[in-house]
Amino acid sequence: MQNLRDLEENEIEAWVLEQHFPKYRTKQIFQWVQEKDVEDFQAMENLPKDLREKLSKDFTLTLPKLYRRYVSQIDGTEKFLFELSDGHRIESVFMEYRHGNTACISTQVGCKMGCAFCASTLSGLARNLSSGEMLGQIVAMEKITGKKISNVVLMGSGEPLDNYDEVLRFIRLISGKTGRNLSQRNITLSTCGIVPKIRELAEEELGITLALSLHASTDEKRKKIMPIAYRYALSDVMDAVRFYFQKTGRRVSFEYALVLGINDGEEDVLALTKLLKKKGVHFPAHVNLIPVNPIKERDFTAPDRKKIQRFKEGLEKNGIACTIRREMGSDISGACGQLRRDAELEERED
Ligand code: SAH
Repeated sequence: MQNLRDLEENEIEAWVLEQHFPKYRTKQIFQWVQEKDVEDFQAMENLPKDLREKLSKDFTLTLPKLYRRYVSQIDGTEKFLFELSDGHRIESVFMEYRHGNTACISTQVGCKMGCAFCASTLSGLARNLSSGEMLGQIVAMEKITGKKISNVVLMGSGEPLDNYDEVLRFIRLISGKTGRNLSQRNITLSTCGIVPKIRELAEEELGITLALSLHASTDEKRKKIMPIAYRYALSDVMDAVRFYFQKTGRRVSFEYALVLGINDGEEDVLALTKLLKKKGVHFPAHVNLIPVNPIKERDFTAPDRKKIQRFKEGLEKNGIACTIRREMGSDISGACGQLRRDAELEERED
């Protein structure tokens, strides 16, 4: 059965009319689902009984079910392992920042991009998430924590641009005037760099922030840690993100996970500078330096604080804005995709 959380207002309207209910019921239904986050059709008080019954025959209001919850004793960050209706599990993170509560959500079950340092991709892609399952992670976290979420980053498991249509539907649903009405400026989409999809996204002219997972600044080096680099050359990736900036006026941010001995040297500072400041094509960019979160299946480690600081100062000296990403919930760490994997492995051992 279809989850009503997946439906946009015009789709609900089509159903309402098909069932011979008056058109104005559409908005009421949509608000119950997307604004009031109800979990039961009976709670839709301003709808007649026959409409509620018809809805419950055709749709569900299922939310991801809590499977495990980890709360950081350091900064209140929470990590959730949710179970979907078909038994698949996904991870989501809740973080408290000064600028508001932020949800980091998954867009796929697993991932097929194969980045060498990432736990989400170790067992490949199981399936795409629907827009309602992406929203469901936010609704479920708000219900569990009792706290409102004002910022969303698509940086959990999965490659958002490999699930383009549902991710776009999610963005429309969450930022629509009726419903949650979350500002698109508070949404960040992170991608490993699927060039044609970045261009397509630019054409949508949304207000969301694009983050590019760069991690290395030459094709040669990037190929060693990100298989997508065999598909798209960095020069084409850079052209695409520049195009994104031209179309939307939104600053692009670059994710750079520092891995000891791989991408953390002087020559990497120079290569990154060259990439971002090529003559005549400078555009407002921001680099997020992330000490790599080691996963036990691979022997990557992060450089020490001093080396990370030196990398940052090197970039700043060359006029590149950057920040070292504050580690959130380091006591419940587990890199992206690690919680789900650990739970799977535990079960296999049982
Ligand atoms: N597939 C998308 C979004 C999900 S990953 C992308 O590639 O951007 C979100 C970010 O976490 C990406 O920048 C990714 O490269 C990074 N990441 C994954 N595993 C990591 C790890 N072990 N340590 C640090 N960053 C990691």
